[in-house]
Amino acid sequence: MESVILASNNKHKLKEIQEILKGFEYNLVTMEAAGLHMDIEETGTTFEENSLIKAEAVVKASGHIAIADDSGLEVDYLKGQPGVYSARYAGEPCDDQANNKKLLSALDGVKYEDRKAKFVSVITMLFPDGKKIVARGEVNGHISEKLQGEGGFGYDPLFIYDNKQSFGQMNPEEKNKISHRHNSLLILKERLKNA
Ligand code: IMP
Repeated sequence: MESVILASNNKHKLKEIQEILKGFEYNLVTMEAAGLHMDIEETGTTFEENSLIKAEAVVKASGHIAIADDSGLEVDYLKGQPGVYSARYAGEPCDDQANNKKLLSALDGVKYEDRKAKFVSVITMLFPDGKKIVARGEVNGHISEKLQGEGGFGYDPLFIYDNKQSFGQMNPEEKNKISHRHNSLLILKERLKNA
């Protein structure tokens, strides 16, 4: 089975991607397992650009196929912020708690109906010969007025799905069935079949 390197150092994301891609026709390995110890600077202004930047860096360094996910949260009331800057919304080094606190402050006093948001995931699968498959997945929801749940990572405790519970309150299997990453990876698998 051919190896594919996941271009991410985010352990939560890796776990989700590996879980969702179970039964995938490639052998997925992490950058660490592939002996790649590099920090890739995300200099793009769109999820598509950053996803490609990460995939290209890994293909260049390894000569193997790479899969990269660039993802984030777009909040309607904030005109799409924090968007591609989701991980470093409250500055660097990246800090999930500080990001959530900043988001709650930015939406202070905004009523529930106006707290619409979506998670976006753009996956790029890049082959050493330059062939590229790009897939975008999204999931809509609302930003809660307080943290809810201990599960997941990032903005999960603030992201209310279907007006019910937050991603942080769902178990991983539930989240992985409806998440933005689930949706992008499903599209990727479909496109691979037809490639
Ligand atoms: P990336 O590693 O540059 O793609 O940054 C992704 C950032 O977006 C993460 O650090 C989180 O802040 C946020 N994010 C992306 N996907 C999720 C998710 O599934 N749950 C919560 N936060 C997420």
